Amino acid sequence: MSDFDVIVIGGGTNGLTAAAYAAKRGRRTLLLERRDVLGGLAAGEEFHPEHRTDGVLHDTAGVRAWVARELNLERHGLVRRAEEPPVLLPATNGPGLELWRDPARTAAELAATSPTDGAAYGRHREFLARAAPVLSRFTDHAPPDLHAPGLGDLLQLGRSALGLRLLGKREMMELLRVVPLSLDDWLGEQFETPLLEAGLAAPALHHTYSGPRSPHGAASLLFAECTAGAPVAGGPRALVRALEAAARARGVEVRAGAAVERLLGESGRITGVRLRGGEEITAGAVAASCDPKHLFLDLVPAAMMPRNFERAATAYRARGTAAKVHLALAAYPDLPCRPGAQPAAIRIGEDLETLEHAFDAVKYRRFSERPILDVRVPTLESPDLAPEGHHVFSVLVHYVPYDLEGGWTDAQRENLLHRVLARLRLYLPGIQDAILGHELLTPVDLETRYGVTGGHLHHGEQALDQRLVRPFLGCARYATPFPGLYLCGSGAHPGGGLTCVPGALAAREICR
Ligand SMILES: Cc1cc2nc3c(=O)[nH]c(=O)nc-3n(C[C@H](O)[C@H](O)[C@H](O)COP(=O)(O)OP(=O)(O)OC[C@H]3O[C@@H](n4cnc5c(N)ncnc54)[C@H](O)[C@@H]3O)c2cc1C
Repeated sequence: MSDFDVIVIGGGTNGLTAAAYAAKRGRRTLLLERRDVLGGLAAGEEFHPEHRTDGVLHDTAGVRAWVARELNLERHGLVRRAEEPPVLLPATNGPGLELWRDPARTAAELAATSPTDGAAYGRHREFLARAAPVLSRFTDHAPPDLHAPGLGDLLQLGRSALGLRLLGKREMMELLRVVPLSLDDWLGEQFETPLLEAGLAAPALHHTYSGPRSPHGAASLLFAECTAGAPVAGGPRALVRALEAAARARGVEVRAGAAVERLLGESGRITGVRLRGGEEITAGAVAASCDPKHLFLDLVPAAMMPRNFERAATAYRARGTAAKVHLALAAYPDLPCRPGAQPAAIRIGEDLETLEHAFDAVKYRRFSERPILDVRVPTLESPDLAPEGHHVFSVLVHYVPYDLEGGWTDAQRENLLHRVLARLRLYLPGIQDAILGHELLTPVDLETRYGVTGGHLHHGEQALDQRLVRPFLGCARYATPFPGLYLCGSGAHPGGGLTCVPGALAAREICR
């Protein structure tokens, strides 16, 4: 008999979700995490004495209500906030723009500069609201088996088609028209305010190898916006705490500091894991929430690997394009475009042209003179992350290549930090004097610390091809060609982001 029914590799949000589901279905479950802390990319850490981050992530609006309900996360401390705070799009020649999901509040912001865009934003959000149920049919269900469809697969396909049809003919055609468009084309036909276009485009381009003029950008925006709900109070840290409590309460055994070095295989079947240090543990099923490249190219025994499948794993694209800067600040710096304001989120990227130029640099393995920044200030909601009055700025820096020309030398790291601070000083001129300490994580650092191949934040690019069949043919429905081995992390359908969906859907498949 095996030591466990299910072993889950990785203690990030998806690994914790998969483990909690498996245990809920009565499976004896062991979760193994390589690092000493749980949470994966969402684990919070001290980066300067007495100053902590909330993890490298920002946005928890993608966490699905149905997962929280099925795992009873509220009983384990999860609280959803009523609404998301606005994002400030700052400017040097005026007040900038506060971007709310609520169309009326954004329209009020735009009243003085572009009432037309205020109305257009209302129409934009209405369209997203109507498209949401259609898109969540795709994102919140395991993909149908198109090779040998069973009754369930056919029903699912039928329901998806019906959902699309129920949109009405005009809206259905509009959705099909929009999906392949670039963001530049789609947003350009709706709006006239460059700052608004850039503010809407940036989150859809985050962590992608594409710019506003690349095809299918509109699809990324649709997926990101249509699946967003209420954020988690306390941020990613609070989500990890609730998931861990839910998993432990159902009897999941959790071991941190336990790196899986190899999978064990027998007669073509995966039968367990070998840890660094040599310990072997057997299980009926192994669910891996680490990224697919690491799983298939490092952990699966080479002798078991079919040639074609190895080629597909090698070809799977996971080129990281983002860095992280954490700043410990003695005070919240003044913001001349909004005197006295202390926004929780600031997005720096003036227009689509600036975003496109920043992406150009990455294509040639450089980083931009004017990087695109997404700044969050977690200390406004969680003051315990820093001493009283101090703040933490958590800055996601977009369009920073993993494979920088000449490599990530100390001089290049300094150079990147210098450019990020120069961009921040433009809108927060006093920031330099408030800085007590900093941490810079290049895509290579993200790979080393968090074990994500290529430093890719989503365990592989979310281009349309790798979204529709994720990660690639042969393992797109959680099961892999190796009986007993399943994918359950961001490299599985429906992809990355703090959603908990891959973990939940994979566990259902494993326990079937
Ligand atoms: C900088 C950054 C910012 C992001 N911002 C956002 C955001 O704002 N909102 C959002 O929704 N998403 C964001 N994302 C994406 C999101 O974080 C990820 O998609 C999600 O956290 C991944 O969860 P996961 O459980 O699938 O994987 P991970 O969090 O990567 O967890 C995988 C775990 O497996 C462990 N592991 C790997 N190999 C082994 C091994 N051999 N043995 C044992 N354990 C192993 C790792 O240590 C890790 O803990 C961001 C990602 C990054 C990096």
